[in-house]
Amino acid sequence: MQKILNYIDGKHQQAVSGQFLDNYNPSTGEVYSLIADSDAQDIAHAYKAAEKAFKGWKNTPTEKRAAILLKIAQLIKENLEELAKAESIDNGKPLWLAKAVDIPRAASNFEFYASGIKHWASNAHFTDQIAINYTKHEPYGVVGCISPWNLPLYLFSWKIAPALAVGNTVVAKPSEVTPMTAYLLTKICDQAGLPKGVLNVVHGLGQKAGNALVEHPKIEVISFTGGTKTGAEIASKCAPHFKKLSLELGGKNPNIIFDDCDFEKAVDTSVKASFSNQGQICLCGSRILVHASIYEKFKAAFVEKSNALNVGDPLEKSSNLGAVVSKEHMHKILACVEQAKQEGGTILLGGKRLNLSGKLKDGYYVEPTIIEGLDNNCKTNQEEIFGPVVTLQSFEDEDQAIALANDTRYGLSATIFTENLSRAHRVSNKLQAGLIWVNTWLLRDLRTPFGGVKQSGIGREGGFKAFKFFTQTKNVCIKV
Ligand code: NAD
Repeated sequence: MQKILNYIDGKHQQAVSGQFLDNYNPSTGEVYSLIADSDAQDIAHAYKAAEKAFKGWKNTPTEKRAAILLKIAQLIKENLEELAKAESIDNGKPLWLAKAVDIPRAASNFEFYASGIKHWASNAHFTDQIAINYTKHEPYGVVGCISPWNLPLYLFSWKIAPALAVGNTVVAKPSEVTPMTAYLLTKICDQAGLPKGVLNVVHGLGQKAGNALVEHPKIEVISFTGGTKTGAEIASKCAPHFKKLSLELGGKNPNIIFDDCDFEKAVDTSVKASFSNQGQICLCGSRILVHASIYEKFKAAFVEKSNALNVGDPLEKSSNLGAVVSKEHMHKILACVEQAKQEGGTILLGGKRLNLSGKLKDGYYVEPTIIEGLDNNCKTNQEEIFGPVVTLQSFEDEDQAIALANDTRYGLSATIFTENLSRAHRVSNKLQAGLIWVNTWLLRDLRTPFGGVKQSGIGREGGFKAFKFFTQTKNVCIKV
């Protein structure tokens, strides 16, 4: 069986413990590969390799660092088919989605930060003709990057590309649930000529390998994307050591449909925002708020379109949805649906595990699920489910829509459908979210700041903000 090995100091190797974890194919429920089960010893080795490589990488001319990152991007594109298939098998997402989004975006992340670093300048100014001040942005040294399972290579590369571009070396821990494409990327990095020790990838459990990375006394910077509970645990461990921390966490995003919307667009986009990637995107709109005057019409159209979605083999083009990522996650989603029923919710569509046949019979498939009749205060409308499950609620006016939208501890993104420009500005102004889309969803521009407010996170990724996060600022004042 294929073994997913650590990549430390340019070498693929087992964990020091020699232990492996099972890696499942969610579409069949079968173990199909083994993952290095790393611990603090592996993190310590990775740190040493990264520390040794730092000076050379930091002093590598920007043009050359950028060229290597561009070469990685090019090789990702050349290996699109293989990487997309690997992502689909490892995660359960439709192959067409991995081909259209995950893998091209991973290549774009490297391209974007490879070119970005050539355009990033620092500031200098005269102070009253008596001094010159110039400000430097210096890499920290070894930084830690921890990523989740929902968009595995896409979010892994979103962290490591800017960290490497500014001259840091990296110890990264991908999710143990979806480690395959990070492993394949290490082979690409080798091929692209990334010097050994510049990127070190340590696989294994969050509580063991991830925790050791966070607690490593010499790693001063942690960039984390994952659940809010994990983020809180990591923050509590970093705070006493004053580590710099970026947290991209969960969401309970509202999708607000006003009665002056383009109706067809609102329905079609809401279906995508609800069920893309089996609803396992932090930006999915999981609470759909609809103006009372069009609630019944919207409900009927939304249920009808969602009912037409095909849940099936992720490798088949005809599958709109594939499998959810793991057995545990499937049971969590189904438990949330049961809870919604106990809270008095009415299931308008789905709500069950889908049992497919043949080789897919033990796969983790969940029907697209729509629930109505719940108060915004209930757990279903307050806790992140992170699956193909959405709720519908109605509102009477703009103020009530905003109040409902803001009434959660999260604040990652929000989507508004209205053809009234003034309303779009007014509502955007009042929504508590880091990212707002009007008449669209998940339209991304890598230059824009990405991140949430409240318990959806701290800090912003994207554009030069990522370079700022991965560097420390030093001012030099010279008397003239
Ligand atoms: P998770 O928090 O369980 O795990 C994320 C990563 O952290 C994994 O690599 C895991 O191994 C590691 N980890 C777990 N415990 C750790 C610990 N104690 N110390 C160090 N590392 C630890 O999250 P997940 O289930 O993989 O991902 C789903 C969550 O991620 C959802 O809540 C989703 O909203 C969120 N997410 C947020 C964004 C964003 O940009 N805001 C993007 C994608 C996913």
